Amino acid sequence: MSMSTFSQEADNVEAGPSSDAMGPKLGLVVQDMTEVPMTSSEPLVDEPLVVQPVTEILEVTAQTVVDLDATGRPRVEFPEPPVVTEHGPARIIALCNQKGGVGKTTTTINLGAAIAETGRRVLLVDFDPQGALSVGLGVNPHELDLTIYNLLMQRDVNIDEVLLKTAVPGLDLLPGNIDLSAAEVQLVSEVAREQTLARVLAPIVGEYDVVLIDCQPSLGLLTVNALAAADGVIIPLECEFFALRGVALLMDTIYRVQERINPRLEVEGILATMYDSRTLHGREVLSRVVEAFDDKVFHTVIARTVRFPETTVAGEPITTYASSSTGATAYRQLAREVLAP
Ligand code: ADP
Ligand code: MG
Repeated sequence: MSMSTFSQEADNVEAGPSSDAMGPKLGLVVQDMTEVPMTSSEPLVDEPLVVQPVTEILEVTAQTVVDLDATGRPRVEFPEPPVVTEHGPARIIALCNQKGGVGKTTTTINLGAAIAETGRRVLLVDFDPQGALSVGLGVNPHELDLTIYNLLMQRDVNIDEVLLKTAVPGLDLLPGNIDLSAAEVQLVSEVAREQTLARVLAPIVGEYDVVLIDCQPSLGLLTVNALAAADGVIIPLECEFFALRGVALLMDTIYRVQERINPRLEVEGILATMYDSRTLHGREVLSRVVEAFDDKVFHTVIARTVRFPETTVAGEPITTYASSSTGATAYRQLAREVLAP
């Protein structure tokens, strides 16, 4: 090809007035659009290209090879817990995290209700002066004359006078209210002040299979009382940026109680709550939590859903309020995981 021919061709392309002239040269087949049959109302313009992040593709691929759960570990099917014919002695579990709003109360109510559904007798202890556990079960604790405060501070009050039945069969409540904040101050001068709750619960341990203690958001004397009375601790962690902040201090408190007051105390598990799988942030926080605590993290993850705030207003657990919702299903799975041998 001579130089002149080349430039002439190039000129033709630039000038290219008609598609007839350009077509063969550029290898294009130009169709007359009027002859394309319109089979659908879809525009002929292509959809914008959606680029899927590589991490997402890898995740999906990994999930199809080995079935991974939200924690990024192989999925585990927890068995239906065996039917119980006798009750007690109860396993006592404290729901602890000195951070507020992480799902302690929500987990106490819904895990409790899900365990009760398996035929076990469950007692929920409202150990937060806010009384949110009581409210969440439809009880107004500020109208009550007798609460857990009276059991802690007065020897002449019987636990049966304070116990309330809830609408869920097998699920009972020891209500608490703002009086508890006075107990925190008054207990300081008591003998064996850390063991006061354990003493209160001792008479009924034989009647229940599981006792769940909803702690207040602090590591003060009430929380130490809960840890001193418990066999295990469940730590709910909200899948948010500062989730891990303060967990070291909580672990330290747990180990000190275990060493000095209650050698049977164990960490049952870390529960990821308010998880949003659609955000990279949520997935990142969860993988950080699993990185930090490994097999201490429950396989069950509680997703964020407005159904939970709704249940508080309704004053009942999600297992009855929206029995087939994903939230109810998640707490039933958590119940199986907690009860698994
Ligand atoms: P804590 O007892 O740790 O302070 P709560 O259980 O009271 O935390 O939860 C704090 C708030 O978040 C409540 O309004 C509750 O309804 C809501 N919540 C709890 N769990 C979830 C969830 N998985 N998704 C959405 N909202 C939730
Ligand atoms: Mg709470």
